[in-house]
Amino acid sequence: MRPIIQLSCALYLLCISIFSAQAATEIRDYPLSKIATHTYVIHGPLGYPSVENQGFMNNPGFVITKDSVVVIDPGSSLQTGQLLLKKIRTVTKLPVSHVFNTHIHGDHWLGNQAIIAAFPKAVLIAHPETIKKINEGEGESWVALMDKSTNGFTRGTKAVAATVATKDGDEFKIGGMTFRIYAPADAHSHTDIMIEAVEESVVFAGDNILNQTIARMVDGTFKGSIAACDKIAAVKAKHYVPGHGPTGDAAIVTNYRNYLSTLFEDVKEQYAKGKSDFEMKDSIVAKLKPYQAWNRFNDEVGKHISLAVLEIEAMM
Ligand SMILES: [Zn+2]
Repeated sequence: MRPIIQLSCALYLLCISIFSAQAATEIRDYPLSKIATHTYVIHGPLGYPSVENQGFMNNPGFVITKDSVVVIDPGSSLQTGQLLLKKIRTVTKLPVSHVFNTHIHGDHWLGNQAIIAAFPKAVLIAHPETIKKINEGEGESWVALMDKSTNGFTRGTKAVAATVATKDGDEFKIGGMTFRIYAPADAHSHTDIMIEAVEESVVFAGDNILNQTIARMVDGTFKGSIAACDKIAAVKAKHYVPGHGPTGDAAIVTNYRNYLSTLFEDVKEQYAKGKSDFEMKDSIVAKLKPYQAWNRFNDEVGKHISLAVLEIEAMM
C-alpha cells in the first residue's frame, strides 16, 4: 500500500472512531420550545428510562433574567444537562446562576453535574429532604438505575446535590425577576417544590402535575397530590410546565387532579363496601376512560389502586 493511501486509511479510521465515540456519548437532539417571553422548555420523550430514550424523559426548563439564566430540573444525566446547556447557548450568552430541583427523583436533577461543570458558581436549590436524601446516598441509586436502564449510555454521570434548602413561601429575586416557591406536603414525593416565575406567569410543577402520562405514586400520597393541584391551580398562572408531558394552561392541572381524585374517591367508596383492590380495578379503570390512552396508564393504574387502598387504611 502506498504511504499516501495508508495515511488516508488511517485518517478515515480515526474519523470513524471519533464519530462513533461521539455517537455513543452525545444525546439525541430535541427542540427547544419558547413558552413565555423569557422562558424555554425542552419537552423530553415520555416513558421510563430506556436505551431508546437514552434516559431522557423530563422537561428541563430555564428562564432568562436580566443578568443570568435560572434553570429548573436540568434532567436525568450528565448528557441531558449538556444538551440543556447547548440549547441555552442558542438563545443567550448569559451564565447560569441558579438551578432549582423540583424533587428527589433522579430524572429531574442528575443534570446538575453538567451545569456545575460549566458554571461552578451556580447555586443549586431544592427541598431540604431532597438534599438530605441525596447526601445519604439516594443519588447513587439513581445514577445506577439510569446506567442500567440505558445500557451504560448515561455513564460518567455523578450525583451532585443542591446545597441551598428552600421552603414554602420563599421568594428568590434574581436579575429583576421573582421566583416563588410552593412546597406541598406529602404530595408526589415528600420532597417537592414547585417554582412560579412570577413575571412570566409560568409554574414549573415538577411531578405534582403530569400531562398525557401517569406518575409513580410509590413515594407520595393521593391526598397530598390532590391538595398540591389545588394549591398550584390557585396561583392562576398562564402556563403550567408539568414534570413530564406537554406544557399547558390551567386545564392540565384540573385534568390531572381529576385523574387523582376520581381514582382516590372511587377506591374509598369501594373499600368502604368491603372490596379488595383487584375486585375494584375493572370499574375504576372504566371510570378513568379519558386517561386510558395516557403513557404508562396500564403499567401504573393497578399499582395506584393498591397504593390508594394502603393510604386509606393508614388514614383510619
Ligand atoms: Zn418524580
